[in-house]
Amino acid sequence: MPTPHTPWRGAWAAALALGTGLAAAAPPDPYGVYSARWAPRLVPLLSEVVAFETVAGNAPAFAAQAQWLQRTAESLGLVYRDQGAVAEIELPGPAGAPVLGLAVHGDVVPVSAAEWSTPPFQAVMKDGVIQARGVADDKGPLVQALLAMKALQDSGWPRTHTIRLLVGSDEETALKDMPSYLTTHAAPDLTLVLDGYFPVVVGEMSNNSLLVEAAPAVRGDTGVRLLQLQAGLARNIIPGAAVATLEVATAALPALRQRIAARPLPPGTRLEFQAEDGALIVSAFGRAAHAGVNAQGGRNALVALATAIAPELPPGSDRDVLTLVQQAGVDVNGTGLGLTEAHPLFGRAVAAPTLLSRQADGSLKLWFTIRSHPALSGEVLTERVQAQLARFNADQGARLRSANRFTSEPQVHDPQSPTVQRLLAAYARGTGKAAAPAIMAGGTYAKHMPNAFAFGMWMPGKPYTGHDADERIEVADLHLGVKVLLEALQDFTGEPAR
Ligand SMILES: [Zn+2]
Repeated sequence: MPTPHTPWRGAWAAALALGTGLAAAAPPDPYGVYSARWAPRLVPLLSEVVAFETVAGNAPAFAAQAQWLQRTAESLGLVYRDQGAVAEIELPGPAGAPVLGLAVHGDVVPVSAAEWSTPPFQAVMKDGVIQARGVADDKGPLVQALLAMKALQDSGWPRTHTIRLLVGSDEETALKDMPSYLTTHAAPDLTLVLDGYFPVVVGEMSNNSLLVEAAPAVRGDTGVRLLQLQAGLARNIIPGAAVATLEVATAALPALRQRIAARPLPPGTRLEFQAEDGALIVSAFGRAAHAGVNAQGGRNALVALATAIAPELPPGSDRDVLTLVQQAGVDVNGTGLGLTEAHPLFGRAVAAPTLLSRQADGSLKLWFTIRSHPALSGEVLTERVQAQLARFNADQGARLRSANRFTSEPQVHDPQSPTVQRLLAAYARGTGKAAAPAIMAGGTYAKHMPNAFAFGMWMPGKPYTGHDADERIEVADLHLGVKVLLEALQDFTGEPAR
């Protein structure tokens, strides 16, 4: 066990030993400075930054947000540097000082506004909770980091390091920002990725996508035909809504509707119907959620839709795909894909169908997210999924195919390593209670940077709301996160890294 670490004593004792004459003054109190001067700015700044709809492809929103970042950083006395896909915001240390990195991302996942109870890009405060897309993932941590850096500077804490906040821009989609930045810029000596759980993440599951394709094929007739189908928002979100249009003779429509409505659905999902001349539109609703971090909290509308309508379709590619969705949807641990092993540290894998759409040529494309552990990754995972697909095809007479090779690997940190132990101690000092290190099914920049650790800012024991409809966070948790971050910053930047 490492010795308990109380950073200010060491740093402050060193300052005293240098005869700086500060013995009479109270030691610097960064969190006290934060509470008094900067905490009141947290909600206003977060409300400003969530208003930029930084969903992939919205270039004007990214440009406006970049200007906001520059303006805000400079108004706080921090250095701003636009480095393309990544922006650097810096609290400089002594010349040539080592660099402690803080990494966040400024992009957000899309919203399905109909599922929100408030406008998604407008911060709404109620009962101490702030709600808007990005308040948890990852704009809350962005603002927390900015204000923590400012409070540390204001407090006069003697810094041995430069603190460099890296703000990425496509973490939720291509994830090319940080890797490309690192080809032309040196990585920080140590990076805290503020995009996961407290107290610290020691295992990140692999994050792979599986694409299953079905060329159009019809092997029978039931008098019903799937005309259109659309489900899901993104590969990393459990779909909260899915809709299918079924072609059916008008005379047969009431009976079809009745049969579909009578089928038991997965818990927490429901259907709505709309009858047209010769067509029945079936909409399924569940609850969107982060497909990695909070798959258990989602209610998969695509699985509900497949369960309801697959038995009505004629044998053929459409029915095959929906049957696979139904089978894979029995749980969020990949049982239906053959991913049955549990890992002692990570537990079970996480897998869910997340996107399904009809292509112009009539084929269907079905995406799954698969988050897996070290016992079920790389070639082992690829072979397992291929074998399961082959078995499904043989059973159903289907011809579904996938060309995926899974290359994303899980990341594991030794829970006993000095850095992990110091981060655990920072969390315990900040919150007044110890917590066990976390495992995460979501991937972060930590996997793409050297010597990087996902450190908060989500408090353990509460369902994570990032990627959800009605994404929200308690303001008290945001302040507490700043306190924990300041504990870590005082430790890691107040004396030479060990
Ligand atoms: Zn994130």
